Amino acid sequence: MYYGNIKYSDIANGEGVRTSLFVSGCTHHCKECFQPETWNFSFGQEFTDEVADQIIESLKAPWVEGLTVLGGEPMEPVNQHGLVPLLRRVRAEAPGKNIWCYTGDRFEALVDPQSPRHTDATDELLSLIDVLVDGPFERDLHDITLRFRGSSNQRLIDVPATLEAGEVVLWTGDEELARHSM
Ligand code: SF4
Repeated sequence: MYYGNIKYSDIANGEGVRTSLFVSGCTHHCKECFQPETWNFSFGQEFTDEVADQIIESLKAPWVEGLTVLGGEPMEPVNQHGLVPLLRRVRAEAPGKNIWCYTGDRFEALVDPQSPRHTDATDELLSLIDVLVDGPFERDLHDITLRFRGSSNQRLIDVPATLEAGEVVLWTGDEELARHSM
């Protein structure tokens, strides 16, 4: 797995101050993509154990709420397999920190065993994520009043509640956000 960037003290991609990892590679090729250089699976640098160590260390700061993974596309099969070991480490070594993930895939496609987006890593990966922001960015549905997402078709999904209920449960962890229609 490769990554293009890591932002420490990021406040744009999830609740609170976060560490954000931008993995490389995306086959969605959205028309309005603002970072087509990240479509390349070799963009940036190789994700090594040392980089993972730095991320884990950053999460131990008391003011950091958690980790966000985005891209590129974290749910590309190669990235799913690359992210599982990292997210396992976050759970084990940074307890209490939450994990957000941004994907251009729809949740339903990820959990469908017949879907090419479902791999032998998907179930575990989803079980390690707290909030999944799903769906492609759509310019026609762009709304600058939305927090943590760019267009109104995208959903903030409470993954543990969704997996327990067997149907999509939206994340409502923020009062202001909860007032926005989905
Ligand atoms: S999913 Fe994201 S990175 Fe991939 S093409 Fe669409 S906007 Fe670009």
